This record gives sequence, structure tokens and C-alpha cells, in this order.
Amino acid sequence: MAWRSTGVSNSELVENLVRNGMMKDPRVKAAFLKVDRAHYSPRSPYEDAPQSIGHSATISAPHMHATATENLIDYIVPTDARPAPRVLDIGSGSGYLTHLMAELVGDKGLVVGVEHIRELKELGEKNMAKGADGRALLDSGRVKFGVGDGRKGWVEPAREGEEGGGEGWDAIHVGASAKEVHEELLSQLKSPGRMFIPVDDDGAGWSQHVWNIDKDENGNISRKRLFGVRYVPLTDPPV
Ligand code: SAH
Repeated sequence: MAWRSTGVSNSELVENLVRNGMMKDPRVKAAFLKVDRAHYSPRSPYEDAPQSIGHSATISAPHMHATATENLIDYIVPTDARPAPRVLDIGSGSGYLTHLMAELVGDKGLVVGVEHIRELKELGEKNMAKGADGRALLDSGRVKFGVGDGRKGWVEPAREGEEGGGEGWDAIHVGASAKEVHEELLSQLKSPGRMFIPVDDDGAGWSQHVWNIDKDENGNISRKRLFGVRYVPLTDPPV
């Protein structure tokens, strides 16, 4: 599956993801067309494969970013009930997915990318600033990057005038595999809200699966196992 959608340009990559059934939602497609993966992947940006970005991190494969966005889309886009979506991207790495999600949250929304490696936090910002669109999003305050341990989530106070704000998150994307669904993360998920998280089910990295963890409007939690993956682990920062 990994290589099938490779293209020679950003738009061809996106069209191939659609043709291969990896991207079905037109809102997701529109966002992917706006963000040139060449600003984020140091080599072969239109290949449907992960690439190294240094510091033992990778930019995930495009079909994984597509799948993650499709799973979270209903919690990312603004609605009457959720006029200002708040989205957390843990392990923001290249910043690619952070930017993509910022294209979807609308004028009042907020996306925060969290990295435990300062150089990668700065890489995300630098990559986003390569395009006019990314620079405008950074300037607007609709997207931010921070340094911290993503296993503890991120507390970002509601901005002035932010409607329906609060400190929690409507959607949490975790870009590295977790040993467990960390309680602190779960407590920061709003009701309703969804977390997309790869979990290292056997604790040894051999059996990772992505889970959708949903909190309904009454705070009830349900978990759905989606598919097997190989992600780098969520760890302590290197010393
Ligand atoms: N979504 C990124 C994925 C980067 S790889 C992209 O596609 O570009 C996973 C990232 O998780 C790495 O950048 C790594 O530095 C980061 N990471 C690992 N453990 C972390 C932790 N405890 N807190 C925050 N980030 C972490």
C-alpha cells in the first residue's frame, strides 16, 4: 500500500491517494492540495513513504497522514456546536500534519503542535514559514508549536474572544506510539472529542495499533482499534 500513491507532484500524490481509496473526504483533499509536502519532507516528498527528518524522527507517509485526518475530520472542522475547534498534534515533527489541520479548523480554530525536541519544534515552524499560506497561519495565531512531553498533553488557555473555548481539545492526534492511553491526555479530551493514537499493545514495539478513543457528550469513553502500524515511540527526550 505504501508506494502505490507516489506521484511526481503534490497534486498527483493527492489524486493517487484519492484513486487508491486512501482519501475519501473532499475537505481533507482540499487541505492536502493547499500544503506542499516538499516544504516538509527533505527528500522524495511525493513518494508515499515516510522519510527521515533527523533526531530519529520521520515525517509519516502521506497515506498515514490522510488516514489520520479522515478519522479526525468531524472533530477538526468548525460546526454550529463547535465554532472554534481546538486540535492538539503530539509529536509534530516536520510540522506537516499540524499545518494540514490548521487549514481545516476555520478562522476561530486553534492547532497546537507539541515536540519534546526543541530543534524539531523549530523545524516545524521553519517548514511552515516556507509558504505564504503557512506564514499567514502562524501570524494569525491559529497555529502554534510548543516544546513539552506530549504524554502529558498541553494546556493552552482559551484566547481572548474565543467562543466555546475552554482548555481541552476537540481532537488529539498522536504521531508516535504510546505505551498506553495516558490519563492526562484523556482528561484533556473534550466531551465530545476524539483522540487518534497509535498504541504499543505488547510494550515491545512489535504490535502497534492505531485506536480511535472517543469521549461522547456525557463523558463516556469508547475505544475502537483500527489497524496495525509501525511508528517511532513516544519517549523521554534524548539527553
Ligand atoms: N507527525 C510527525 C511525526 C514525527 S515522528 C510528522 O509526520 O512529521 C514522531 C515524533 O514524535 C518525533 O518528532 C519525536 O520527536 C516526537 N516525540 C517522541 N516522543 C515524544 C514526547 N514524549 N513528547 C512529544 N513529542 C515526542
